[in-house]
Amino acid sequence: MSSKVRRKPRIAVFKFASCDGCQLSLLDAEDELLSVAGALDIAYFPEASSTMLKGPYDIALVEGSITTHHDAERIQEVRRQSKKLITIGACATAGGIQSLRNWKDVDEFIRVVYATPKFINTLNFSTPIAEHVPVDFELRGCPINKLQLIELITATLAGRKPNVPAYSVCMECKRKGNVCIAVAQGVACLGPVTHAGCGALCPSFDRGCYACFGPMETPNTGALSDQLRILGQSNTEITRAFRSFNAWAWEFRNASEESERS
Ligand code: SF4
Ligand code: SF4
Repeated sequence: MSSKVRRKPRIAVFKFASCDGCQLSLLDAEDELLSVAGALDIAYFPEASSTMLKGPYDIALVEGSITTHHDAERIQEVRRQSKKLITIGACATAGGIQSLRNWKDVDEFIRVVYATPKFINTLNFSTPIAEHVPVDFELRGCPINKLQLIELITATLAGRKPNVPAYSVCMECKRKGNVCIAVAQGVACLGPVTHAGCGALCPSFDRGCYACFGPMETPNTGALSDQLRILGQSNTEITRAFRSFNAWAWEFRNASEESERS
């Protein structure tokens, strides 16, 4: 019989430009994590532990967008050190709310906001991790759904495809038996183009979805924009609707720029 002990997979959690909300979702999943904790070593997670072990890592979870030269270099090193790289949340997958700067003059912001602008060293754009390195899976949400994250980690450890559906929030509404507020009340709802994961939280309370989970797979943003116009939304309102937490997801970015041009 072999005396070789099988090494546990090593997981690391990295932060870039973000509010830490997705890492908090991971911490909030402690009960669920216990069921997989025995199967992995948390080697690097500064928000949770002062033990910070060097790579290589089997799974890297990356929160946040790239907004500085230093971070653009750091993500290359994270990629080199990691077998699987998973981005978590709107910042990492779609630039985050900070990507609103991408349509503005960043130098002007720096001049107006900071007393000593010369100390600020930043990029003009906030970009998703996938614009810098190959990414193995993008988990959407602002913040992410902790159960989807546990499923993703479990599936990655088992070498199978994660069960994280890429359909829209409307599917979750139907499953809950919600009456569609867009149809019944004429509410401007972005559910038809938004990635599932929240359990149709807002429509369940008669509030339109504002797309915090980012774009679903192949969203028909043009048809939704037309419908929002029928409901009385102006082009400026439609531009703003697509330009929020997931503004730099290319599907929402195109939709917002199209309505801006109209
Ligand atoms: S309320 Fe919104 S998310 Fe729910 S079915 Fe209607 S359009 Fe879709
Ligand atoms: S904004 Fe949309 S995706 Fe976000 S929680 Fe509300 S219904 Fe869910």
